[in-house]
Amino acid sequence: MARSIKQITDEHVSTVFARVKRFVVRKFPALSRTVLNLTCRDIAAERKRSARSFMHTGHLDGPVICTWGVAAGVLDRATLAALFLHEFGHVAGHDEAGADKWVFEHFGIPIQYVGPLRLEWADPGLLEEKGL
Ligand SMILES: [Zn+2]
Ligand SMILES: [Zn+2]
Repeated sequence: MARSIKQITDEHVSTVFARVKRFVVRKFPALSRTVLNLTCRDIAAERKRSARSFMHTGHLDGPVICTWGVAAGVLDRATLAALFLHEFGHVAGHDEAGADKWVFEHFGIPIQYVGPLRLEWADPGLLEEKGL
């Protein structure tokens, strides 16, 4: 049977999340408890007000990164990886500016804000070099 759009987008988002998590946990084993919530209704609602709303943390108890899979699933790997790196910065206890600083200081990846939505993005060549 053909896979649905939701299955395809959820799988893409989950795959990038798993890669970024593996990458981050090598340096910060305590972050291994972090889980992904692909069906945050708050994000689905938020997206009606802001098209650049794709993820957040701190909504559900524990280390949970929330997203809305069918929306985030259309983003390319570099954008998703940068978004997840930023969110892991929040899970690690940092605020907006601190999250990107944490990513750069510990992983040497500068998070950039590009495109019409000014979303988190990291150079795909650099990500590959880092093993992401
Ligand atoms: Zn949420
Ligand atoms: Zn943030």
